Amino acid sequence: MAARGFVSFLKSQTDSFDFKIFKNDYLIQISPIKMPISYKTSINETAYLFRDSIVTNLASNKFFYNNIHEVSSFRYFCQLLEETDQGNVNENQIGRLTLLLHVKNTNEFDFKNDLLNFFYQIKSNDRITKRIAEIVFSITQVHDVQFDFIDLKINFFKFGLIRLNGFAGLDSIYIGIDAIKYFMNMLSEDYENKQKLEVFRLNMFRLIIHETCHVALRKTLNNFNASSPSFQSKNETDSKQADIFEAGVLCEKSFFSERIDWALSTKNPEFDLNYCADFLTKLLNEPTESDSDFPKFDFKRSGCLKNPDKLIYMAIDFSSEIDML
Ligand SMILES: [Zn+2]
Repeated sequence: MAARGFVSFLKSQTDSFDFKIFKNDYLIQISPIKMPISYKTSINETAYLFRDSIVTNLASNKFFYNNIHEVSSFRYFCQLLEETDQGNVNENQIGRLTLLLHVKNTNEFDFKNDLLNFFYQIKSNDRITKRIAEIVFSITQVHDVQFDFIDLKINFFKFGLIRLNGFAGLDSIYIGIDAIKYFMNMLSEDYENKQKLEVFRLNMFRLIIHETCHVALRKTLNNFNASSPSFQSKNETDSKQADIFEAGVLCEKSFFSERIDWALSTKNPEFDLNYCADFLTKLLNEPTESDSDFPKFDFKRSGCLKNPDKLIYMAIDFSSEIDML
């Protein structure tokens, strides 16, 4: 019932939908609570029960019911529910249903929820967004930036490309889930979970400001196809402009002095995680009245290592070599 209800609800929605409405208006009447799944005589019959449970589980997951979702993101899921509606579930469909049933059992979406909060903290911090706007101005010399950082959205994607960290979209930035997992695995094995999460936040901060800078730059130039590597400053008398080759990197350097490889840094015996984590805490939490108290990152003191990789694709952030095409 829940699966069928979800399919018809989704079909009645246009671009985006509020999961909370589905939960409160529809689901509550069908199967509002998590149901146990008993083993049936065949795998096929048992897997068929997964359909309703997946939908009910989504409703008990904060990430889903607290957010507005794109209808298109649920297209494949909806298709799977329709294909299996009559109870004929093949091997491939059983695999997909099983995976979806377990999604709610992982921490993945709680993790996402933390990231959503972190993202909000960054985009609503005047001191940080002002700094990004300054970078954009230094490149474009355009004063009247028509960009409201608070409207910026974050999206998560799963392309199976472990080195594709993220890229800039239209009023949104994209973060790769596979790359997050890859990044976490790259961290020093001597690190405890808490420390790994601190490095993760530092890297996410780096990625978010990097991609945000691209979004703001394109918006300012009113050109989604603008390429900052080849972008020439209008102010050619300013010799500093000659160094600019990539807006996102420039933005990273503005906060951290250098473009840092956070995963690699954890392997450096000199790396001082406490110093770096403190810096980020100060940046996010200190009062932001005046420019003079903008915390300065001492790269040498941090023991961080630089990321020397070349950038091939505009506004796309990746680790080492990646074959995109
Ligand atoms: Zn970039």
